[in-house]
Amino acid sequence: MNFLKFADANSSFNDAKFVIFGVPFDLTSSFRSGSRFAPNRIREASYNFETYLMEHDVDLVDIPVYDAGNLDEYGNVEEMIKNVEEKIKNFLPKFPIIVGGEHSLTIGAVKALKDVSIVFIDAHLDFRDEYLGIKNSHACVSRRVSEIAGIENVFSIGVRSFSKEEKNDSEKLGLEYFSSFDVKEKGMESIIKNLNLKKKVYLSLDIDGIDPAFAPGVGNPEPFGLSPIDVLKCISILSDRLVGFDITEICPPYDNGNTSLLGARIIRDLIGCVSSKK
Ligand code: MN
Ligand code: MN
Repeated sequence: MNFLKFADANSSFNDAKFVIFGVPFDLTSSFRSGSRFAPNRIREASYNFETYLMEHDVDLVDIPVYDAGNLDEYGNVEEMIKNVEEKIKNFLPKFPIIVGGEHSLTIGAVKALKDVSIVFIDAHLDFRDEYLGIKNSHACVSRRVSEIAGIENVFSIGVRSFSKEEKNDSEKLGLEYFSSFDVKEKGMESIIKNLNLKKKVYLSLDIDGIDPAFAPGVGNPEPFGLSPIDVLKCISILSDRLVGFDITEICPPYDNGNTSLLGARIIRDLIGCVSSKK
């Protein structure tokens, strides 16, 4: 397979501790589609940065990362989710870094990892039971994941948008979430440190959790969001128990380039941060 790899992903598959793969899928996108282009845009953007990460004192050239390329462009969301699940099962316990594409891919990742706590960063609660007739829509991710992992193991941070029905359902079923206003008031450190994380953690970053001023190229932009530094703090505090990560909903057709750059930089930070703790 000949393609542009994520920068410094120079390891062989066998030696790799981290495996990156892209999921160019956006068929359930409801407002702006185009996140299927993000995996390759993020790879291109990754070459902008130094290999040395000053904040973690690690050099990414020393960390074994393998870029497995992109999954096929599937014609329906169930097929995409199944292939994400199988792909990850094939290389566990290596650390998966999944680059979307739309947020629904997280369902496949959690099916593969199973026994994890899940921390979402997202502007949206994504707790609909179905959306436009689709059970596995990007708008239903936290609902589906809570059915797999148990709702007591699902946490959502940065939320500032949901329907009345999602609010009622989340209260009834007991989904714990923190708004972007909570993060502003209490600080990311205190929120993460007080989460009741019973298991290893899978972190799912829907980039629209970050404010559209920093991340304009997204499918469903929502003002009053988190700062990129909030996300780094979250990664840093969780890093010694992280077992997987995804970054979704970057939408290059609506981007000025900064959102793909931010995504690439967050992936690089996560690799450095997780490595420096292990
Ligand atoms: Mn979202
Ligand atoms: Mn989402």
